[in-house]
Amino acid sequence: MSYSYKKPRVGVIGVGHLGQHHAKHFNTMDSVHFAGVFDIDSQRAEKIASFYKTKSFSKINALVSACDAVSIVTPTQFHATVAEQCIRSGKHVFLEKPITRTIEEADTLIRLAKQMGVIIQVGHIERLNPALMVLKDLDLNPKYIEVQRLAPYTTRGTDVPVVLDLMIHDLDIILSLVNSPVKNIRASGVSIMTQSVDIANARIRFNNGTVASLTSSRVAKNKVRKIKIFQRDMYITIDFLLALTEVYRVTDFHTQDPNTLVSAPLDQNGQHREIVYEKLPVHTTDALHQELVNFVDSINGKSTPIVDGQAGRDALEVAIKIQNMIIEDTH
Ligand code: NAD
Repeated sequence: MSYSYKKPRVGVIGVGHLGQHHAKHFNTMDSVHFAGVFDIDSQRAEKIASFYKTKSFSKINALVSACDAVSIVTPTQFHATVAEQCIRSGKHVFLEKPITRTIEEADTLIRLAKQMGVIIQVGHIERLNPALMVLKDLDLNPKYIEVQRLAPYTTRGTDVPVVLDLMIHDLDIILSLVNSPVKNIRASGVSIMTQSVDIANARIRFNNGTVASLTSSRVAKNKVRKIKIFQRDMYITIDFLLALTEVYRVTDFHTQDPNTLVSAPLDQNGQHREIVYEKLPVHTTDALHQELVNFVDSINGKSTPIVDGQAGRDALEVAIKIQNMIIEDTH
């Protein structure tokens, strides 16, 4: 086999719906040696391995020994045990979201990873969504954030409530945008198709006064993924599905900008205000590929994980609080 010894050897554990895409991307990356895959469904592992011309391991230990780093894309209930085994063997882990089922499990993994000197990255893929990433050049100080994430019903992901499946993406985004501890939460939800909560709404107030309102549903007719961010003199709308990021800036002078939407008359202070519209250029990229490149770069010391174990844990903590509140509310 010809590969540079410097390239990290990577593997994928769990090659179901999402894991197959991890395999696809590792297969195309020159910066890694794709060592192979493991799945408790050996036929599935063999199928994916043969498609991506890699090895199918029949024992997890053998794959772990053959790798420097692994993507763990098993159902969430197995994240903690599989990741613990990999971390104890000194391997870097990319864990799909949510990091684990419980805070205790997440804390154990984070502590162990620190002891072993390995990286934990968590697959909160929306953080790499180009429509969100273009905000990095704006002076953000959100006061109110409104989020909608609605999806038609599928059986996938229904092993966990909608808060841990869908809303957690937005909780991670919001925690990355609001630099303040959570002060209080209100939440409610309803079970419609499954035994757990299928539609949920949460209102989070942060210590700095920022409020976020989130609605997540997995029983919607159509897919919707939108965020609106409001702050002094600016508001932003993002449509993740359309990769559309629009900014409305308020100025107190005549801009003569052709994109001026509203030119208000002088107010009682004699001030003139205009709302100027701008559509930010969003260059669509494959967010999963970018995530895995970020993981490999982090292993090589060229970067740090955009969503590390602690960020994954923090999003989980808020998600669990919301979920518990909904359960208390309905009993
Ligand atoms: P899936 O059921 O399609 O695939 C899971 C695979 O893991 C199956 O092939 C199964 O045989 C295998 N498996 C189960 N237990 C295992 C074990 N102990 N060891 C090895 N293999 C095992 O599930 P999925 O939809 O691909 O979801 C997998 C994970 O990815 C979940 O944690 C889910 O929350 C997450 N996910 C994240 C996103 C995202 O947007 N980032 C999207 C979908 C799923």
